[in-house]
Amino acid sequence: MLKVLKFGGTSVGTLDRIRNVANIIKDIRDEGHDVIAVVSAMSGETNKLIEYAQSFSNNPTASEMDMLLSSGERVTSALLSITLNEQGYETTSMSGREAGIITDNVHTKARIESIDTSNMKKAISEGKIIVVAGFQGVTQDSKRVSTLGRGGSDLTAVAIAGAIKADVCEIYTDVDGIYTTDPRIEPKAKKLDKISYDEMLELASLGAKVLQNRSVEMAKKLNVNLVSRSSFTPEVEGTLITKEENIMEKPVVSGIALDKNQIRVGMYGVTDRPGIASTIFTALADAKINVDMIVQTVGVDGKTDLDFTIPTTDWEICKKVTETFKDETKKVDYNDKICKVSVVGVGMKSNTGVASKAFTALANENINIRIISTSEIKISMIVEEKYAELAVRALHDAYNLDK
Ligand code: ADP
Ligand code: ASP
Ligand code: MG
Repeated sequence: MLKVLKFGGTSVGTLDRIRNVANIIKDIRDEGHDVIAVVSAMSGETNKLIEYAQSFSNNPTASEMDMLLSSGERVTSALLSITLNEQGYETTSMSGREAGIITDNVHTKARIESIDTSNMKKAISEGKIIVVAGFQGVTQDSKRVSTLGRGGSDLTAVAIAGAIKADVCEIYTDVDGIYTTDPRIEPKAKKLDKISYDEMLELASLGAKVLQNRSVEMAKKLNVNLVSRSSFTPEVEGTLITKEENIMEKPVVSGIALDKNQIRVGMYGVTDRPGIASTIFTALADAKINVDMIVQTVGVDGKTDLDFTIPTTDWEICKKVTETFKDETKKVDYNDKICKVSVVGVGMKSNTGVASKAFTALANENINIRIISTSEIKISMIVEEKYAELAVRALHDAYNLDK
């Protein structure tokens, strides 16, 4: 079998941990499998590099940030390759460019356009273990190094697995699978044997950082056999992320997600004219800002109020965009003391009373809900950040997810 194995930041966080990862790879190799390992930077490294840049500039060029941030993954890929090599295994490390990963030109949030697998195929045919530096590629036009957004090594692994038609893509992290909610918040959370791509995509998009959302999207598109498991307990079977039809028993609610990295933006007293929402949200989209929950109140006296949420990382750029509407807006305010809690489950489609149960659970804890949005398979609520963990546990209880 050809296996793509991805090791996250904590799994390669120290030299001992890198040694541990080498042992996992050796075992799999010794069983006769071909291996492409994809590695993250050592934990904390990417944040440290961002802080370094910020000590010089509030607004460093995105392409320079990519040059900087991509270095973290390269360090681990080389170190892992060196240790495997020392133990008698033929290996080669590869940067994103060497692995053939071509992206668009949007630095720090690049999307993968294509993967030329020829280099990797050649190395495998020569019997080598490949160790790819995750999180990066090279831009199509200027051939500069690009990065794939936070958590992007997951995407590297899934995209490679899809392109090279690997038999499985195993994402090794510090928990042994996907749980009904973050087990660090709710110790009663239960591990799932399987979860559908769609539910996992919702959970990931709504804050469960155990898998990067774009990697799940890609896995679904390319039909990648995706497994989440632990590098600390590699003998434990993880969670399979798969097609909905492969899951026999579909619970109404599969999990609860929490996202603290959200800001509520309020634009008040906006001139109420046809096309105003389109103009504002087009400007935000052009600035590559991921706008999520949107509420527009009924216009009074030719004015309307808009409330929406954005990721904290887009705060600075969002300020620049809203500034361009200052003649049409009375006041803009930002609240970063909020969070988004979400209930996710494919079974919601065919069940009633799921939403009211969530609202009741939060009401019982005296938690006020600021914004609500729903889709076929999720309910999201904005609440004060100080209630984040309490809200998650209350919802987990309300749907009996520990049972
Ligand atoms: P890595 O560094 O390996 O990429 P991450 O820190 O990105 O790992 O993701 C793993 C973390 O995701 C876990 O430590 C856990 O706290 C968190 N997490 C959030 N939601 C879930 C969930 N539903 N199931 C499992 N882990 C979750
Ligand atoms: N090192 C990058 C990050 O911290 C990418 C990754 O770990 O997946 O976001
Ligand atoms: Mg991660």
